[in-house]
Amino acid sequence: MSIVATPIGNLGDITLRALETLRQADVIACEDTRHARRLLDHHAIHVQLLAVHEHNEQAAAAKLIGLLATGKRVALISDAGTPGISDPGARTVAAVRAAGFTVTPLPGPNAAIAALSAAGLDDAAFHFIGFLPAKVGARRTALEALKPIVATLVFYEAPHRIEETVADLVALLEPERDIVIARELTKLFEEIVRLPLPAAPAWLAADDNHRRGEFVLLVSATQPREGLDAESERILKTLLAELPVKQAAKLASTITGVAKNDLYQRALALKDG
Ligand code: SAM
Repeated sequence: MSIVATPIGNLGDITLRALETLRQADVIACEDTRHARRLLDHHAIHVQLLAVHEHNEQAAAAKLIGLLATGKRVALISDAGTPGISDPGARTVAAVRAAGFTVTPLPGPNAAIAALSAAGLDDAAFHFIGFLPAKVGARRTALEALKPIVATLVFYEAPHRIEETVADLVALLEPERDIVIARELTKLFEEIVRLPLPAAPAWLAADDNHRRGEFVLLVSATQPREGLDAESERILKTLLAELPVKQAAKLASTITGVAKNDLYQRALALKDG
């Protein structure tokens, strides 16, 4: 069975090998047949589909094993990106492997890797979480458990929960961290911004479009800040030109979300320098 990654937005993001494998398959197992049909029609691929989703994965896996046993070529795709990554697929793969059939990955798009590749965070490691629990208590417990991990934390989030998830990230993780908000990757309104974590709620609130689409959130590992980000530095300098150090730092902190003390120390250094 071939595990085939498909686009996360831009239909051009599909490998030559993926297209060839899908074209030659006898059956394509997919999450949502209508969704799959759109991609396959785009590439003029007309192969029988079989729905495999969260609710029927065990029964569907048995059917796929039956097909493999009669020598049929089976490919597995998900609605977007790499199957098995915050998507169904793992249980099917386990069952097919346990039945003695080879499982071959065809690598391709994945939202987390796409975001990491364009984020420029230089942490040595990343820790993939995917979706946090939807319930507030469980989400906060999960975040507490992630706090000691020294790595970029990688989350997936949907637009209807982006504000509450980001609010919890700010409440429960250290303010020294940065966040990279990557939305609508590979699509028309793709946007990737890096901010001090405490500044994220204000950024989301600033524009309705900032809360639209599909999100990958990357939270950097805790590390001592070497300096202010360029925007906070600019705001602090502007305020310092008009106000005393303490007031400038306080106001800059309200605007940027950066810790007041960091701004105060920087303001003192600027005055001295
Ligand atoms: N299997 C997919 C992968 O390999 O990335 C992930 C599927 S998961 C059900 C869907 C979530 O992935 C979205 O809610 C969002 O968090 C993230 N995602 C998928 N496509 C995205 C995109 N184009 N831009 C940003 N995030 C995306």
